[in-house]
Amino acid sequence: MKKYFILTFGCQMNESDSQRIGALFESVGLKESSIIEDADLIVVNMCSVRQTAVDRILGLANKFEELRKTKKRLKTILTGCVLEPDKDKFIKIFDFLLNKDDMEIWPQMLAGESFAVKKRDYLKIIPKQSSSFQAFVPISNGCDNFCTYCAVPYTRGKLASRKHIDILKEVKMMAKAGYKEISLLGENVNSYVSPLDQKIDFAELIKLIDEIPENFWLRFTSPHPKDFPDKLIDILAKSKKFAPYLNLPAQSGDDAVLKKMNRPYTAKKYIELIKKIKAAFKKNRSGLEKEIAISTDIIVGFPSETEKQFENTCKLFKAVNFDMAFIAQYSPRPQSHSYKNMKDDVSKADKRRRHKKLTDLLKEIGEKKNAIYLNKAIPVLIFEKYKGYYLGRNRQNKAVKVFSKKDGLVGNIINARVARVLPLSLEAEYL
Ligand code: SF4
Repeated sequence: MKKYFILTFGCQMNESDSQRIGALFESVGLKESSIIEDADLIVVNMCSVRQTAVDRILGLANKFEELRKTKKRLKTILTGCVLEPDKDKFIKIFDFLLNKDDMEIWPQMLAGESFAVKKRDYLKIIPKQSSSFQAFVPISNGCDNFCTYCAVPYTRGKLASRKHIDILKEVKMMAKAGYKEISLLGENVNSYVSPLDQKIDFAELIKLIDEIPENFWLRFTSPHPKDFPDKLIDILAKSKKFAPYLNLPAQSGDDAVLKKMNRPYTAKKYIELIKKIKAAFKKNRSGLEKEIAISTDIIVGFPSETEKQFENTCKLFKAVNFDMAFIAQYSPRPQSHSYKNMKDDVSKADKRRRHKKLTDLLKEIGEKKNAIYLNKAIPVLIFEKYKGYYLGRNRQNKAVKVFSKKDGLVGNIINARVARVLPLSLEAEYL
């Protein structure tokens, strides 16, 4: 039996697409290989948005050359969110550059058949989930926001929401199969509107998912602050499924920088929004569920960002008290507006220093915030086992190290008592 191997360099959306590629190949009789050397078909699913992904693919050229010496019939495919300039670079390395939207006809394309150009829906393919307890369900694809630093609208195209009935079917299937955590995915997840019924927006979709009888933790990524009406806050706060953790990308705490990024909100509006969200959870939930954890995405060193503008981002950190932040040092992505029209003029040293300052601030805030968990019993979804301890996440998505000699906890939601709090994680004893 022929074997396939998939390498994914990208975001959760790419990971989710890879699960559909796996399902597709298995449906035509291929078997997954655990090592690249054994594969007859290698798929690289990448995202041009990340420079690290681009670099790693360039590094694969030698590996493919070496493999081709012993596997004369090896086929290599590149897919994902690939920018045109990157396609030109990679065309020499791969046998095929395939559009993920045409995924359902890949087997025939690889066999040399030709097809008329038409719109296809690869999300109809039921994915081969790589975990038995954690599932990702894409609800939309693409983005219309054109943040100036971002290449997603050029790689994934315009926003296209899936039919709500297809999403519900998939979530129900995962819930019935016993998945403990289900994450809804979309580049701008909360701008969702069902193509079958305009009244079913993101808030209504959450409400429908909430009616599914099985128990699971619901999460989503990535929302945009501009699409966060009071109705959505209310539904999330009252939801039985939604775990109290929200990643809400701010990108900067300075209004002029936000404007240059084409992010249509101010720091003040962002802070007000977070206050409303926190207040709604305090009002509608009990115990630790009242404490919604907030994380954010930040870019430091955006073109012409001054020291004063960066300080405004530090102020935002203090005003919001973020539980976590994913901080990126600006790097221009080909095809984006900032790449074409703005000078990358903040020095690497300044970007590094700003990155470190925010990280230090985050740790300082984190240690104080995590104190609320000390000596409390919390539910933890266990992901991995190490020698003498497990790693998992709690409802607020905090990383938790759980000490236990017991076997078989991976994939279960267990109770643990927090014995120590660290700036960005917790340590707990299995109960
Ligand atoms: Fe990119 Fe902005 Fe769309 Fe997010 S919202 S995918 S950052 S353009």
